[in-house]
Amino acid sequence: MARGSFLVQVRAQRPAASQPCLINITCFSPVAAGLRCTLANSAYNERELAFQYTDSGARLVFASEDGAAVVRATLKSLGLSESEADKRIIVMTNGLDWVGGPAAPIRPEVSKLVKVADLLKFGALREEEKFDGQLANETAYLCYSSGSSHYFIQINLSENSPRNITSVLDMVKPAFPQLDLKVDRLIGVLPFYHIYGAIKLLHFPFTCGAPVVIMARFDPVQFCANLDRYKITVALVVPPILVVLARHPAVDQYDISSLGRICSGAAPLGAALSQQVIDRLTPKRKGLPPMVIIQGYGLTETSPTTHLVLDKDAQRKVGSAGILLPNLEARLVVDGDGDGNIDAAEGERGEIWVRGPSIMKGYLNNPTATKDSITPDGWFKTGDIAYRDSDGYYFIVDRRKELIKYKGFQVPPAELESVLLTHPDIDDTAVIGVNSAREATELPRAYVVHARPDTVKTDAQKAAFAQSVVKWIEGKVARHKFLRGGVVLIDVIPKSAAGKILRRELRDRAKEELAGR
Ligand code: AMP
Repeated sequence: MARGSFLVQVRAQRPAASQPCLINITCFSPVAAGLRCTLANSAYNERELAFQYTDSGARLVFASEDGAAVVRATLKSLGLSESEADKRIIVMTNGLDWVGGPAAPIRPEVSKLVKVADLLKFGALREEEKFDGQLANETAYLCYSSGSSHYFIQINLSENSPRNITSVLDMVKPAFPQLDLKVDRLIGVLPFYHIYGAIKLLHFPFTCGAPVVIMARFDPVQFCANLDRYKITVALVVPPILVVLARHPAVDQYDISSLGRICSGAAPLGAALSQQVIDRLTPKRKGLPPMVIIQGYGLTETSPTTHLVLDKDAQRKVGSAGILLPNLEARLVVDGDGDGNIDAAEGERGEIWVRGPSIMKGYLNNPTATKDSITPDGWFKTGDIAYRDSDGYYFIVDRRKELIKYKGFQVPPAELESVLLTHPDIDDTAVIGVNSAREATELPRAYVVHARPDTVKTDAQKAAFAQSVVKWIEGKVARHKFLRGGVVLIDVIPKSAAGKILRRELRDRAKEELAGR
């Protein structure tokens, strides 16, 4: 029997050191009931949500109170009547205590809502649906991912099974810093709809019993206030949060001396930034061991972590994405476009290929993309280029795929390009990522060809048009996809004879344009 999917529109809960967490209920219960769960960004608009709802085959949506209107509009845009749409939406209400906000108890009726029996009563599901075959290999989560094909970027839902998840938890636990449950507390600012937050904050803490203080969204002052108030010892973050810890005045306004370990992931973390944070925070820890910063690496498709820096090597291997976790195999492949038979020598660059029990089953409804990224003998091609040192530590140096990462969030260039091509004045376009050292992230930047170039001749006309496109796209995509790297008018998009956008040429051009800024 085909199994149904749930779409959970994830809005993180407000912080509560010891409160049960609604998102755990909404993720674990459907999976335990034999249903697949796909996690959606609460910032998505109707178009983005409609894609995920349709592609995942979802039939029921858990939505936050303030997000329900978008969900309703999405379902109606897909042809459902008002009453049909309402049958498919479960609004999650909550009122948890958060720093600087009112305190109110969690509302108990939510737990009632996730009982499959109740869902049947609502008429939301036609009949109770169960896992076929071996439960562990069924799909548990359908994670939004932009895929790793070298030739084109597609938006895919990677199918991660319960076995993928339990395997990665088993692998991470021995490599992750050992936690002392009497003192250790984690802070959760990662979004739960991304696999990093979903696994490391929703699942991992259960394996060691560590409490997590959860924040609805990142805010530098509230972050520092929570570190102080809850005496947080471990933070799982993305690189831009380290920029805050290195520079923001709030770091000196609160007592954050309890924070002793930071694990950064989802995007590259530079050695210099890491050192700045260590230099600023270690003196605050008077008498306590120095601040340790480690990095992890992985992808949605690998559930996610495949590499982690060991605590003991943190200082020695600053800038490394880690060593391979147990139970996994890795190769650095030089001829990824060809047979994939040639492995890089030590210190030489190659594409990371990984194999093991945490690799996704494939991309939902997309056998071509699955075939392009997983070889017949099980190697998953990450699209990331790295070298490995003599101690087995990996250093990521480049990316073959066309993905842009804004503060750890995926921004698929092809999606932005297809939206830009609906602009009446744009004839052609290419989107690339440009690095911002100040914000420790990539920023999406669009090159566009004007449909009537004679109307934008002067620098002022070009600048006004570029600015109007930056504003225009803000109404069409979620915040993390905004063109923060700017819009640039260009005569023609450089392409290969086969019509493939020559993004490296554009990246080199952007470097020159942005040099000295
Ligand atoms: P996602 O599926 O959103 O987790 O994105 C996975 C991609 O993020 C990888 O293929 C890398 O390009 C990038 N990434 C994740 N962790 C790191 C890291 N520690 N260093 C460099 N890039 C990273």
